[in-house]
Amino acid sequence: MSEIRWGPIKQKWVIIAAERSLRPDDFITREEPIREPKSCPFDYGNEGITPPEIFAIRTDGSRANSPGWKVRVVSNKFPALRIEGEMKREGVGLYDYMSGIGAHEVVIETPEHKKRIHDMTVDEIKLVFYAWQERMKDLAKDNRFKYIQIFKNHGAQAGASLAHSHSQIIATPIIPSTVTNELIPCKEHFSKKERCLFCDVLKDEILRGDRIVLLTDFFVVFCPYDSFFPFEMWILPREHNHDFTTLNSDGLYQLSITLKDVLTKLLNLLNDPPLNIVLHTSPIQRLSPSHPDYWRTLVQDYHWHIELIPRLTRIAGFEWGTGYYINPTFPEESARLLRDV
Ligand SMILES: [Zn+2]
Ligand SMILES: [Zn+2]
Repeated sequence: MSEIRWGPIKQKWVIIAAERSLRPDDFITREEPIREPKSCPFDYGNEGITPPEIFAIRTDGSRANSPGWKVRVVSNKFPALRIEGEMKREGVGLYDYMSGIGAHEVVIETPEHKKRIHDMTVDEIKLVFYAWQERMKDLAKDNRFKYIQIFKNHGAQAGASLAHSHSQIIATPIIPSTVTNELIPCKEHFSKKERCLFCDVLKDEILRGDRIVLLTDFFVVFCPYDSFFPFEMWILPREHNHDFTTLNSDGLYQLSITLKDVLTKLLNLLNDPPLNIVLHTSPIQRLSPSHPDYWRTLVQDYHWHIELIPRLTRIAGFEWGTGYYINPTFPEESARLLRDV
């Protein structure tokens, strides 16, 4: 029997269409391999092909823009938004115009061309998270930016254009609506109950247990009640925290263990599906003259997390028309299968 579900965080309906329920085998994709360039710009020795590095974690003694790095961050060669220029905002008739200012960076996660994120050691994954934090802290100093979005596209169907393992950072002069749509219910929940909405959801999920994929002393991984996609998972710190950049070294290590465990589960159950890994964290808190106490409770009311979306279903006319997703797998079933891997 199908169900139509709604959750307090995304505040959107989703159709869980049980009649279409599929087994993991039905989801195993035969993905078109990404077309490989003759010479990969992310390999050792090709540092000159990419824009100059903005940040790198290097072995002692190695020079910038030469081999010897472990993680390297460069500007995107084809940026969606550019760092140079003046920030202009104006109304154009009924429309709003804003200059395309922002930052678009690429985190090259390993010098090894064939190494995928699930092949990396826990220490190597930790370096990637550390690079994310360092870039976020640096970009947050730029007054023009309001949000820093970090994401990773793994596999061609998930949007990756290069096979070499990398993630992307985009700083934007506006808070993305997906983030605002989460911030508003969190703020409202807190103003009524003086509790974090995510913490309340976590408590309930741990109590129920049937949507939990992994539970450690530090992190919880679960398939949300109102999952839009089959095998969708969220990773949340068990201790309340609104800002990913404040996670300390031990926390980064624990997060790396958790991510590696979850990726290994996906690899074994679904044979390395195309995947989006998306960080949701606090916007950059700046005083805004029009909203003087906009961020007043943000530290208590928002909870950073990572969303993992295996790209197994397609977005088509129904989703476009209604804004609702059809998920062919019950999240409880996804969680059970992932737990049992
Ligand atoms: Zn490469
Ligand atoms: Zn919380």
